[in-house]
Amino acid sequence: MPELPEVETIARGIAKRVTGDVVESVWLGQKKEPLKSPAAEIAATLERSRIARVRRMGKHIVFDLERNPSIGVRSRANGHRRKQPHKAKGAGATSSKPRAQWIVHLGMTGRLQVCDPQVEIAKHTHAIVRLASGRELRFVDPRRFGRLSVAAETFEAGGVEPLDVDLETFVTLFNGRKTPIKSALLNQKLLRGVGNIYADESLFRAGIRPRRRAASISRENLAKLHVAVKEVLREAIALGGSSISDYVDADGEEGFFQLQHRVYGREGEPCLVCKSKVKRVVIAGRSSHYCPKCQK
Ligand SMILES: [Zn+2]
Repeated sequence: MPELPEVETIARGIAKRVTGDVVESVWLGQKKEPLKSPAAEIAATLERSRIARVRRMGKHIVFDLERNPSIGVRSRANGHRRKQPHKAKGAGATSSKPRAQWIVHLGMTGRLQVCDPQVEIAKHTHAIVRLASGRELRFVDPRRFGRLSVAAETFEAGGVEPLDVDLETFVTLFNGRKTPIKSALLNQKLLRGVGNIYADESLFRAGIRPRRRAASISRENLAKLHVAVKEVLREAIALGGSSISDYVDADGEEGFFQLQHRVYGREGEPCLVCKSKVKRVVIAGRSSHYCPKCQK
C-alpha cells in the first residue's frame, strides 16, 4: 500500500510530466469499483480540461483542472482501441464551471502510468486519459481498491496535512482523546495520510509508547512528536524522490527506496539506540513496534 511519502513522490513525478497538458478524451473500463464518481461525470469533467496542477492531499493525488471549452480537441480516428461504454455525450463542453478536480486514490495496488499511446495496455487498466501532447495517463489497478473521482471546486480530504500542521493545531488534535496515541496518529480525520510504518517510526523518535493515551501526553512530548512526524515523512519523501522513473510506478512494493526502519518490523531485534529488544503489540488491529526502554 503506497504511504504518504510514496504518494507525494508519485504526485511530483506526474506533475512534472502532465502539468499544462490538456485532456483530449477519456476511456473508462467496465469495472465499477474503481469509479467513485459516475463514469459520465468523470469523463465530462476531464475532457477538454487543462491540468493546471498535480498535488498530494493526504494519500490522494489531486489534479486541479481548468475548464476551457474553447480548447480544440483534434480528432483521433484511430485513437480508440477499445469501445467506450461510459463515454459521456457532449463531454462537458456546455459546462460553465471553470474549475474542477480529478482525485485519484491508489488503494493497495493502484498505479498511474504516463506513457506513449503505442505502449501496450497493461492488464487491469481501468482508465486511459489521452492528452494533447500525445501521451496517455493510465490508471492500472489489479486489486481494485483504488478510486477515481471528480469534484467541483474543492475536494475535502478531511483531517490536517501532517507536513503543514503547526504545533498549536497538532497539540489540539489530541486534546481529550482517550485512544492510544498510535490510533490517534492513524486516525485520518485528525492527520491525513500518516500510515502504520510512519506512525511507529515517529513515536520511536519522539520517545513515546504507542499505547499511551493521547490525552495524557505532555505538551512537551507532543512537540517532539510534531517534529518527529514531519522529519520521518520528509526523509522518506527525499529518499523516494530519487527512485521515480519515467514509468511512474506506484506499486508500493518495488521501486521505492524505503526509509531504514528503526523499530517497524524489527520485533526481537536490538534497538539501534539502547540495544533493548524491540517489542511488538497489536493496537486496534495494527502491529505496533516500540523500544521498551527508549519509549515511555
Ligand atoms: Zn531503545
